[in-house]
Formats: sequence, structure tokens, C-alpha cells
Amino acid sequence: MVDPAPRGTPSWRATRNARVAFCVMAAASAVATHWPRLAIAPGESPVDKLAHACNFAFLAMLLWRTRWIRGIPVLMGVMAAWATLDELTQAIPVLHRQADLEDWLADLAGIAVASAFIAAFRPMGQGLGALFARRRACALDGLLANGIAWFHLTTAAALGAAAGAPLGVLADSWFQRKAPQPWQYGFIGAVLGAGVASHALLESGIRWRMRRNVAVRPCLACGTPHAGSAACAACGRTHGEFDWCDAVGLEGREEGRLCVRPIALGISAVIVLNFAVIALLTSLRLHVDAVMRFDRWFAGLPTDARILADATGVALVGAWALAQCRRRIADALDRGGARCLRCGFDLQATAPGDPGGRCPECGTGFVRVGDAARH
Ligand SMILES: [Zn+2]
Ligand SMILES: [Zn+2]
Repeated sequence: MVDPAPRGTPSWRATRNARVAFCVMAAASAVATHWPRLAIAPGESPVDKLAHACNFAFLAMLLWRTRWIRGIPVLMGVMAAWATLDELTQAIPVLHRQADLEDWLADLAGIAVASAFIAAFRPMGQGLGALFARRRACALDGLLANGIAWFHLTTAAALGAAAGAPLGVLADSWFQRKAPQPWQYGFIGAVLGAGVASHALLESGIRWRMRRNVAVRPCLACGTPHAGSAACAACGRTHGEFDWCDAVGLEGREEGRLCVRPIALGISAVIVLNFAVIALLTSLRLHVDAVMRFDRWFAGLPTDARILADATGVALVGAWALAQCRRRIADALDRGGARCLRCGFDLQATAPGDPGGRCPECGTGFVRVGDAARH
């Protein structure tokens, strides 16, 4: 468990809200997976596996926000144990449900994708990169401390889902020459729409709050506004000299340039992996019995399970590319301690021992590598 911020501070309230949301969702999920004889449609639902994966991905992300768990491997272990228990308890005869290996694999796929994105969004960098990550976390806590923000995010997700579902069906019928799969691609479109809409709202909220916080100067550990003393009145952390210095970030164009290579690599990786798996399966199928059995098992899976397998592969590569983009941006920010990010002035010669200061050429604040990590 991460040391909780003192009661009543914005960080504490953000964590409490996440815990409430998690408990509500966990209870709803347990009821839905154990409700006797629940079936969405007659026979197997066309989006059953996708729903399984999304449910556990969402629960994993909420559980991470509760700060009950420190470390992504522990999160994955806890969620995998939960998924196992969830499937096994469905075998209780009175419920008329059944434990299902494929459902369990779908749960694990969701947990893997959620964990990969949590890892991709973790704080990176040491100097200015780490400082910006702390400011970002502080702004996010400030947002999520308000119950109304959770309501807005839910509304945005619902609107995004409503817009995404028909787009998903449209995209599928455009690319698919035979037998369109309106259920599966409608579902995927809805999930992507919900994700994009809520993320866009969250991101704009974080950016707005980060700008506002430069004036409010809250404590970076608990979010309590700076009362003018050297230490935070709520949690006792000493305010860092550079916590709210006016160091600039990278321009959007520069961030885009740094992301070109990871995105291109990610797209090539998806294409190469796709052909590699097909080539491997076709060449080994007739020689290795296990490969033949796997191929038959996979071909016999319901459509949404096969779509989920593909989507999981693409999502994991996407999370890797995202992590690379963020890493490159954090490294570029850290280099701002040696060369001014705004005017390019060489700062190495200026006050070499100082953890930070102002560029003598343009007056922009800078922070050196290691400074933000020390506070
Ligand atoms: Zn504090
Ligand atoms: Zn400068």
C-alpha cells in the first residue's frame, strides 16, 4: 500500500473516490458474473469474450488508482488470482453457470493490456521530466478529488461509446468484404469511443489544472495549496525550490517529432508479427502435433475470442510505442538542464553546481537532472 496522504487533502480525496468507484464496480462485476443463468442473448453472447476482457481491464485500472497496491507485477498477480477465483466460483452448481477456460484467458488478456498501459503512463525522467510527472500526478489528484469530475468522465465515456459503436460497425462493413460482424466491431467501437472521449476530457482537465496550479502552487505530495511556509501545512513535506518554477515543456511539434519513430516501429511490429505468426503456423502445422492442435483450437473459437486475441496483440504493441514516446519526451525534458528548451542556449557553463535557475539568454526557468528526484 502506498503511504496515504493526510485525511482531507486533495490526494486523499482522489484516492477515496477511486476506492469507492472500485468497490462499486467490483461488486457489480461479481454480481454479473455469478447471477444464476445469466445470458445476454440466447446461446453464447457474440461479445462475451470482449466483455470479459474489458471488465477486468477496467477493474485493474481502478484498482491501481485505489493505491492499495504498489507495483505493477503485484497488480497483475492480484487481478489474475481474482479472475481465477471468479471463474472457479462460477462452477458452483446452484448458479447454473460454468467455469470456462476461454473466459479466463479473456480476463487475463484484459489484465495484460490494462497493466501495459498503466506501465506506459508511469512517471518517467529524472530532472524536468520527473518534475512535470509530479505536477501531472498532482493535477490528476486535484481533478479526481471532485466527485463531479467522475460524473463528467462517465458522461463523456457514455457519449463516446454511443458515437463509437456505429463507427465501429461502419469501419467493419467497409473493410470486411464478407460477413460483417456488427456485434463485435460495434462493441470495439463503443469501447474505443468511450476510452478516447474520457481520455480527451481527462487530459484537457489535467492540462488546465497544471496551468492553474502554477499560480496556486499546491504541495506536490498531497495537493494542499502553499500557505507561504517552507513546509506543507497538511503533510509536512518541504516545498521544493523548483516545484512551480516556470520551466517550459517541449513544443507540440517537438513532441510529435520524438514520437514518429516509436509509432512507425509499432506499426511495423504489428505487421511483422502478424506475418511471422501466420508463416510459423503454416510451416509447423503439418510437422508439429501441438501446433496443429493449437491451430484447430484457435480456428474453432468464437469470433469475438479471435478478434480479442488480435486486439490484445495490437494493444500491447501500442502500449509499448506509447511508453517509448513518453520515455523520449522525458529524456528530452531532462536534457533541458544542459541546453535551454526555449532558446537553445548552452546552460552547462552557467552555474554548473546549481540544481536549477534561469536561462541568462531568455529568462526561462530550467531544472537539472536529479534535482526533482531529490525532493
Ligand atoms: Zn502536502
Ligand atoms: Zn533560454
